[in-house]
Amino acid sequence: MLLVGHKEQWEYLKRSIENNRVAHAYLFYGPSNIGKRTVAMEFVKLLNCHNSDIRPCGKCVSCKNFENGIHPDLLVLKPEPPENSDKNDKSGNLAVRINQIDKLKSGFSLSPSDSGYKAAIIDGAGAMTYDAQGSLLKILEEPKGKAVIIIVAEQADQLLSTIVSRCQLMRFDLIQREHIKESLEKGNVPKKTAEEISWLSFGRPGLAVEYYKNPELAELQKKRIGDFVKLSKAPLVTRFKYAESLAKDTELMYSSIDIWISYFRELLLESLGKDKNHFILPAADWSKIKIRNIIRIIEKIRFIIKTTNANPRLALEVLFMKI
Ligand SMILES: [Zn+2]
Repeated sequence: MLLVGHKEQWEYLKRSIENNRVAHAYLFYGPSNIGKRTVAMEFVKLLNCHNSDIRPCGKCVSCKNFENGIHPDLLVLKPEPPENSDKNDKSGNLAVRINQIDKLKSGFSLSPSDSGYKAAIIDGAGAMTYDAQGSLLKILEEPKGKAVIIIVAEQADQLLSTIVSRCQLMRFDLIQREHIKESLEKGNVPKKTAEEISWLSFGRPGLAVEYYKNPELAELQKKRIGDFVKLSKAPLVTRFKYAESLAKDTELMYSSIDIWISYFRELLLESLGKDKNHFILPAADWSKIKIRNIIRIIEKIRFIIKTTNANPRLALEVLFMKI
């Protein structure tokens, strides 16, 4: 696992073990793909490591079991499609559901298998159903011995305030591009590739790793940025067709919207004079005012799609008409 940045958070967690002040529940929040889950995994690994309380040794039975995903005291939950649905269905509707929280509850009712901690990581907790949150709240209200729950979400306000108030909050931020590049190079990624994917990952080491493993994904991201720039000059019928096809794949739609926002923020920085000589993404020759407006429109459309019942295709059409 690539652990990049987040030194302060890591030091804090380490100290909590040293001082015997591990909280029963943590909420790790911040942008996606920046390494929150990686830190959570390292932390629970360290809590259970037989050899060290500084870094997980990676050699003891406990560390090995964590790495192989078979540790009996670790449960990782993430958003899933509804039970009995087609796993390949891409229409969305992924959520952390009450049956998963029930599993957590029964797992936590048993003692840890050795002297360590029972641990649960709830990834993508922003997509937890209301029922599941209610059930989780009950577990948090009755903390038990050596057990820790780490909730991972993009924003704290995606969760009930009663849940948030029972968690130790830890905020995570985007990572500087230089740090991502250095880590990639340390991992023997060729310099040119490291340069390119560190740009394209927009502060998210998780994405950088994915791009390295799947170069075609990096190309796809570049294409999506290029598409947006081209759409701004295309006839309306082309824009509407693009909206229609993108709206059919919820995951692709959200990731496209996210990458456009990241791209235009980067472009804005570039137009303000930073890193001008190194900018390697597709270029759009737009004024600062236009870029700011575009960011605002995309953010608004994302908000509308995520929080209302608005038809995503129509919302995307509005977006593409305004660029
Ligand atoms: Zn170990």
